[in-house]
Amino acid sequence: MKSLPYIPYGKQFIDEIDIDAVTEVLQSDWLTTGPKVSEFERAIADFVDAKYAVAVSSGTAALHCAMYALNIKEGDEVLLPPMTFAATANCIVFQKGTPVFIDVEPDTLLIDPGKVEEKITKKTKAIVAVDYAGQPCDYDRLRIIADKYGLALISDGCHALGAEYKKKKVGSLADMTVFSFHPVKHITTGEGGIVTTDNPEYEKRIKIFRNHGINMDSHQRNAKGDWFYEMIDLGYNYRITDIQCALGISQLKKLHRYLIQRRRVAKLYDQAFAKTEIIMPIFVKKDVVHAYHLYVVQIHKDLDRSKVFEMLRQNNIGVNVHYIPVHLHPYYRKKYNTATGMCPIAEDAFNHIISLPIFYELTDDNVKKISNCLMECIRIRKAK
Ligand SMILES: *Cc1c(COP(=O)(O)O)cnc(C)c1O
Repeated sequence: MKSLPYIPYGKQFIDEIDIDAVTEVLQSDWLTTGPKVSEFERAIADFVDAKYAVAVSSGTAALHCAMYALNIKEGDEVLLPPMTFAATANCIVFQKGTPVFIDVEPDTLLIDPGKVEEKITKKTKAIVAVDYAGQPCDYDRLRIIADKYGLALISDGCHALGAEYKKKKVGSLADMTVFSFHPVKHITTGEGGIVTTDNPEYEKRIKIFRNHGINMDSHQRNAKGDWFYEMIDLGYNYRITDIQCALGISQLKKLHRYLIQRRRVAKLYDQAFAKTEIIMPIFVKKDVVHAYHLYVVQIHKDLDRSKVFEMLRQNNIGVNVHYIPVHLHPYYRKKYNTATGMCPIAEDAFNHIISLPIFYELTDDNVKKISNCLMECIRIRKAK
C-alpha cells in the first residue's frame, strides 16, 4: 500500500473572506459583546428556524447554559445516551444533577426511545437526545414521552447543524438545541457554541448565566446610558467575542457547500462498502437528512477493530473512535457507580466502530484511497 500524507478525521476550512471578516472586527470598536454577536445569533436562529439563539464560548458552555435554564439542581435526574462526548453528561453534573444513561438503537446508535420510559422516576426532569454522527433522533417519539411525563426535551445537536427530521431542521425540534463551533464541527468560530430555543424565558436565563448572573450586558447598558446593574444569580463568563462571531457569520454562509461535500463523501464511502458485509456503515433512517459530522462504520465482529485501526493509522489515515461510552469513564464509574453491562448495545458497538475522515477539503481521490486502504487492511487481517 502506498502511504498517504496524514489525513485527519476532521478539519476546518477557512478562506480569505473569513480572514477579512475577522480583520474588520479587529479594527472596529467592539471586540466582544458587540453587534457581531447578535448578528451571528440571528443568523443561526433563522437558519434552524428557531425564535432565539444565544451564543457562548463553547458547545460545553452551551450545554451547561441549557441545564441552568431548566433549573437542574441536586437530586434531579437527566436521561441521555452514553454514545456521546463526555460534555453531554458533564453539563448535568455541573448543575449537581444525576445523569441516567439510556442505551442506544443497534443500527443508528441513537438513544432508543423504547428504553426511555423504564428509566423515568419522580426525579427525572429532562431528556438530552444526541444526534449522533449528524443523524437526528426520533424526535416524534421522544416528544410524546417528554410530554407524557412533563420532561424537557433537549437536543445535543453538536453533530447535526444542517440536519433535518421530517423536513424540520435540528435546532427547532427540541425545547433547546445546542451546537458547537469547534474546528472539527460543520462551521467554526475557533471555540464557540450556541443554544437555540423558541422559549423567551430560556433565552433570558441563558443571557444572564453567560454574563456572571448579571441582568444586563454592557451593550444594553451603554444604550441606556446607565451605570446600574445587578447580579441576580451565580453565573459564569461564558461570553463569545465579536471576533469569533464574525468568523461564524462568514462560515455560516458556506455551510450549504460544506454540507453538500460531507454528504458527497458519505455517499462515496457508502458505495465503496456496499458490496461487503465486513464493513457496515451506520444505518440512516428514511425520514432524515443527515449532516455527517462523522462517517462511522462498524467492522465485522470476527475482526479485531484495534488492529484494523492501527493499520489505518500506520497508513496515515486519521481514523478515530466516537465514542467510549460515557458511563465507562472512570469518573462516572466512581461517582455514579456505572459499570459495564448497563448499556450493552452501546458497549458492544464501541468495540466495532471506526470514524473515517470526513471534511470539506477531502477529495474524491482521498476517499477512494481511504476506502481501498480499509478494505486492504481487512483482507490482510483475515488472511492471518
Ligand atoms: C463537540 C461536542 C460537544 C462539545 O462542544 P465544545 O465546543 O467542544 O465544547 C458536546 N457534545 C457533542 C456531541 C460534541 O460533539
